[in-house]
Amino acid sequence: MPISPAGMSVLVGSIKRRSHSICRSRLFSSQPSKPSRFWDHRAFLLLAAGSGGLMLLADSALSQELNPAEGSDKDLNKKKVLVLGTGWAGTSFLKNLDCSKYDVQVVSPRNYFAFTPLLPSVTCGTVEPRSISEPIRKIVKHKKEDVRFWEAECLEIDSKQKKILCSSNIDAGKEKEDFLLDYDYLIIAVGARSNTFNTPGVAEYCHFLKEVEDAQRIRRSIVDCFERASLPHLSNEERERILHFVVVGGGPTGIEFAAELHDFVHEDLLKLYPSVKEFVKITVIEAGDHILNMFDQRISKFAAKKFQRDGIDLKTGCPVVEVTDKYISMNDKKSGKKLSIPYGMIVWSTGIGTRPVISQFMQQIAQTDRRVLATDEWLRVKGCNDVYALGDCATIDQRKIMEDISYIFKIADKDNSGTLTIEEFNDVIKDIRLRYPQIDLYLERQRMSNATKLLEGAAESGHDKTIELNIEQFKSALSHVDSQMKTLPATAQVAAQQGNYLAKCFNKMDKCEAEPEGPSRFRESGRHRFRPFRYKHLGQFAPLGGEQTAAQLPGDWVSIGHSSQWLWYSVYASKQVSWRTRVLVVFDWTKRVIFGRDSSGM
Ligand code: FAD
Repeated sequence: MPISPAGMSVLVGSIKRRSHSICRSRLFSSQPSKPSRFWDHRAFLLLAAGSGGLMLLADSALSQELNPAEGSDKDLNKKKVLVLGTGWAGTSFLKNLDCSKYDVQVVSPRNYFAFTPLLPSVTCGTVEPRSISEPIRKIVKHKKEDVRFWEAECLEIDSKQKKILCSSNIDAGKEKEDFLLDYDYLIIAVGARSNTFNTPGVAEYCHFLKEVEDAQRIRRSIVDCFERASLPHLSNEERERILHFVVVGGGPTGIEFAAELHDFVHEDLLKLYPSVKEFVKITVIEAGDHILNMFDQRISKFAAKKFQRDGIDLKTGCPVVEVTDKYISMNDKKSGKKLSIPYGMIVWSTGIGTRPVISQFMQQIAQTDRRVLATDEWLRVKGCNDVYALGDCATIDQRKIMEDISYIFKIADKDNSGTLTIEEFNDVIKDIRLRYPQIDLYLERQRMSNATKLLEGAAESGHDKTIELNIEQFKSALSHVDSQMKTLPATAQVAAQQGNYLAKCFNKMDKCEAEPEGPSRFRESGRHRFRPFRYKHLGQFAPLGGEQTAAQLPGDWVSIGHSSQWLWYSVYASKQVSWRTRVLVVFDWTKRVIFGRDSSGM
C-alpha cells in the first residue's frame, strides 16, 4: 500500500535532513528497493505489454517488489501492530500475542533476544554469548501467522501520521538504507542506553555492559590487560596501572561484574599469569554512601564486608567527575578532595539513559520534563493514541488517589447523604484498589488487615464513633496512601511482565468492547477496557562471587550464601527463553567447574 504524500511530510523532512542519500522511490515504499530487480520487472512489463492479464500479474509483482514490507498476502482487515525492540519487553509481548489477530511486524537492530542477567557471566567467559542469545525468528516460529522482522533501527516516530522512519544496519561498512513503516498500534520497547551523566571522557574511555557485544569486548579487554602487563619491557608502576580494573557504579550490575571479575582473576587468570599476581587490583567506585542501595541493608552490608575480605577496594561517596586515557578522577565527599587514580580498564555501570529516538519522540509529544516515556497504567503513552511503551524506555505515571477523591466519594455515597458508611465504602473498595495499587502497598506497610481500617482511624479523629465519614474525613483517611506510590524499577522482571500483560490485552481487544473489564465505575470516558497493569515482584538476586548470592524475596525475606547461589542457578536456568539456551547455559556452568573459564583473547 503506497504511503500518501500528504501523510509523509514530517518524516520526509527528516529523511531529507539525514546526511546519507536515499533514492526517491524508496521514500514511497516501506522497504528499501533493489534497483537491479526493479529494472528486471520493467523489462518484463514491456515484454508482456500485449497481454492485459500478464500486465496485471507483473504490476502486482512490481508493487510487491517495491513494497515487500506491506506484504499483499496479508489480510488487509487486520490491524498492523508494529513492535520496536527484541529485548525483554518486546519478546515477551511477541511470545504471548495471538498473532493470528494482527498483522505483526518487528523492527530491531539485533535479530535476537539476549538474556541480560547473564551478561556479567559472559564478560568473564563463564557463559558463552551464544548460550544466552536466541534468534527472534526462532522464538516466534511456532506462531500460526507470520511475524515479519526487519533488522533495522527506528530513527523517528511520527505518531500523528502513524509512521516510523527506520534505518537498516545490516552491512555496517556500507551506506545505511532508510525506509518507512506505518502502523495501527505501535509498541515501543527499545530499552535504554547507558547513562554517562555527560561525565567527560566516559564515552571515549569506558566500557559499558548493555549488549552481548559489550560483554565480549570486556572479556577481550581483561585478557589483553593481562597480556600487556606481562610484556618484558614495562615498569612495575605501568603493570600496576594496566592491571587496575575499575567498576563505576555499585548497583546490582556493577557489583555482579566486580564479583565475577574477582573470581575470574583469582580462580583462572592468576594461575596462567602468576608473574603479575602482585599488581592486580579491583576497585568499585560508587557515588552514594553504600552499594546495592535498592536491596535490604543486610545485603548491602554483607556485600561490602565480603568485598573487603576479597580485597576489592570499595570507594563509596565518590562521584566520578572525569576520565582520561589513563586516569579516573572523583570527588571524595568525606575528605572534600579530588582523587585521581590510574587505571587499565573501566566498566561504567551507573544506570540508564534515554535513547535518541525516545528523546526525539518525547519532544514531539511534549514530554520534555522526563527521562523516559510516561504512560498511563494501561501502558499507553500519554499524549498520543495507539502508542504503547514498556520496559526500560517507559515509566507508569500512576494516578494519585487524591486527584480523584471527591469523585470517588460521590460514586461511593449512593444515597447522596453527604456521608459514607462502612457498607458503602466496602461496596466500591475492590474497584478503587484495582485502580490505585498504592492502597494495597499502604495497607501492607501499615500492617492493616483490611481497607476499612483506613476509615476507623479517620472517624475517631473526627470525633465520630459511628464510622460514617464526611468528605473531609474521607480525604484525611486516605491522605497518606499516595506516599506509597513508587516508580517501577528498570528490570527484566518488569519489562517481561509488561510485555505479557499488553499481549493479553491485545488478545482480548476484540471481545472487550461489549463487556469492559476493570474498575468500570472509575473509567474516564469509557477508555479503560482492561484492568490496569499490576507489577508482581518475585524477588531479586545479587551474586557476590565465590559461589555466594544474596537473595531478597517477597515479604523482605533475605537469604545470603551458598544455598541462594543454588536458587540463583535454578531460577536463571528456568527463566531461559528456550530449551536450547537452557541446556547450553547449564552446560557452560558445568564446563566452568570442570575446565575453568575461557581465558583466550578471542
Ligand atoms: P532491552 O532488553 O534492552 O531491549 C531493547 C531492545 O530494543 C533491543 O532488542 C534493542 O536492540 C532494541 N532497540 C534499541 N534501539 C532501537 C531502535 N531505535 N529501534 C528499534 N529497536 C531498538 N534485570 C533483572 O530483572 N534481573 C537481572 O538480573 C538483571 N541483570 C542485568 C544485567 C545487565 C548486565 C544488564 C545490562 C541489565 C540487567 N537487568 C536485569 C535489566 C534488564 O536487562 C532490563 O531491565 C531489560 O533488558 C529491559 O528490557 P527492555 O525490553 O525494556 O529493553
